[in-house]
Amino acid sequence: MAAYPSGFVGHGSPGNALGGPISSQWAEWTGGMLPPESILVVSAHFERQPPTLSSTSGAPIVYDFYGFPAEMYELQYAPPPAAGLARRVVGLLPEGVLTDESRGLDHGAWVPLSHLFPAADVPVVQLSIPWSDDPAAMWELGTLLAPLRHDGVFILGSGNVVHNLGRVDWAGGPTPDWAADFDGYVAQKLEEGATRDLISYRSHPLGSASHPTPEHFVPLLVAAAAAADDAPSFPVHGWELGSISARSVQFGFN
Ligand code: ZN
Repeated sequence: MAAYPSGFVGHGSPGNALGGPISSQWAEWTGGMLPPESILVVSAHFERQPPTLSSTSGAPIVYDFYGFPAEMYELQYAPPPAAGLARRVVGLLPEGVLTDESRGLDHGAWVPLSHLFPAADVPVVQLSIPWSDDPAAMWELGTLLAPLRHDGVFILGSGNVVHNLGRVDWAGGPTPDWAADFDGYVAQKLEEGATRDLISYRSHPLGSASHPTPEHFVPLLVAAAAAADDAPSFPVHGWELGSISARSVQFGFN
């Protein structure tokens, strides 16, 4: 069997849980895909060192957002716990990986997954971002996880290709040039197979404007590093709040 694709989802607002143009594209993306055996999510919203796995015993999802309609806090997503996958991850990484049995899936995981795999029948576990300020180390993490793809595991980074909450347009106006330019730069690097160049994304002239903090970008490095030489496709496009890129990436199976 060919290695299962790795991917990156631009999760954007938690409100995507309730539907809309981005979540419709998520559903279309995986609607035609063979389902994975299990899913390993590396989300912007779970930063912890040393590398830490989320619950493998079914802790409930986390409502890690504020000020949304009440119905958002009643949504559920309860896939089977992925204890077997967690053991595989521990075996692939250097010693010292922890598991936090109290930690459920955060919105960077469950919001897109509720549209990507709405039946919630594929086991899921999250792995924390241990070194958001060290993009090369995050790349290395992706290479260590790559063998999971041969077991049918979907390695899914979750963040946004452009993410600066200080510069969003709450009225959802047109996308500013700086955001479109950085998004285009990333897409071009991926298409050229020059994904390793993205380790130095912060030295791009728009790198710090696009990511004043690193946690929404580095999950892309994990997915890209795990992809080896598999070509990318972009199953989801669009923008939220003007400058949050909804671009998603699939590596492999194209
Ligand atoms: Zn986020």
